[in-house]
Amino acid sequence: AKAWVLKKHFEGPPKNSDFDLKKIELPNLKDGELLLESVFLSVDPYMRPYSRTRMKEGDIMIGTQVARIVESKNPAFTVGTFVVAGSGWRTHFISDGKDLQLLPSSWPESLPKSLALGTVGMPGLSAYFGLLEVCKMKPGETVLVNAAAGAVGSVVGQLAKIGGCKVVGCAGSDDKVAYLKKIGFDEVFNYKTVTSLDEALRKASPDGYDCFFDNVGGEFASIAINQMKQYGRIAVCGAISQYNDSLSQKGPYVQVPMIFKELQMEGFLVSRWDNRREEGLKALLKWVMEGKLKYHEQVTEGFENMPGAFIGMLRGENIGKAIVKV
Ligand code: NDP
Repeated sequence: AKAWVLKKHFEGPPKNSDFDLKKIELPNLKDGELLLESVFLSVDPYMRPYSRTRMKEGDIMIGTQVARIVESKNPAFTVGTFVVAGSGWRTHFISDGKDLQLLPSSWPESLPKSLALGTVGMPGLSAYFGLLEVCKMKPGETVLVNAAAGAVGSVVGQLAKIGGCKVVGCAGSDDKVAYLKKIGFDEVFNYKTVTSLDEALRKASPDGYDCFFDNVGGEFASIAINQMKQYGRIAVCGAISQYNDSLSQKGPYVQVPMIFKELQMEGFLVSRWDNRREEGLKALLKWVMEGKLKYHEQVTEGFENMPGAFIGMLRGENIGKAIVKV
């Protein structure tokens, strides 16, 4: 088996030299165990902040994959079954089956299994529960989402459309803007090329925003919060603009609009709804099958290219979910 380890803690944006590719000898299977082979691996923003808090140098990079069972000494699992596992950046691994998640039973053959890491997986669920439970969006409202062309953001916008809302999205390239228009966002702009973010947000929705699904944090969030409507709701899903910072944040300062607009702002981790995972995946899969929820994947070929895929995703090179195909 091969595995990518964190050679050196990241300082600022991750670099290729921070990773090491290692060979690992796997022991023979014991009773109750399975041998799995990764087919698709996920590179996600959380790996950057978690590398500091949950990993030491020399540890295998954390992460999830869609894997195929290639050998089984566990009667509950048959060879050939695909599962979602959280076994880090490795080509092969052994499991006792306890932490493996089966793909929903209604998963159609025609659908790429990699979607279980994106639109019909953790990022899709973040969009689903963040909008329904944290933003509490209602038909007719206006929803703002940033990093809108990414794995979570692209689902947020489309679910808000399905829910009868107006959707404003921003992303960091003209190709992303074109993609978002194609999948039904009402107003879209490239936040990197507008002269004033404040003006661009105002122009996209002169009456302001009822819901703000924040994937970015920092300066973007502090500007957007000023344009919330009275009683607006802000779901703090991510703060990717700050994941590479080594010093803790001194701002932005959000108190004034929070008070006078009586806003609600709530951070969340998608794991809060682990007990409703099935419900969320079922709904997402249904919308995908009905063609109401479109998906795009940025697929990097080759396990050896995992660090590059991760670095590229953090730089914004992906449209939709960034995936590595072994
Ligand atoms: P994406 O697919 O959206 O990829 C990351 C995107 O972030 C890039 O494509 C880039 O798009 C944007 N980005 C990168 N750096 C910056 C920056 N400095 N300022 C603004 N945008 C930036 O990733 P995900 O959809 O997987 O994740 C989106 C967010 O959601 C992340 O913050 C992540 O941590 C969070 N998340 C939180 C979860 C939770 O449980 N709370 C679960 C899953 C994700 P662009 O070109 O538009 O800049």
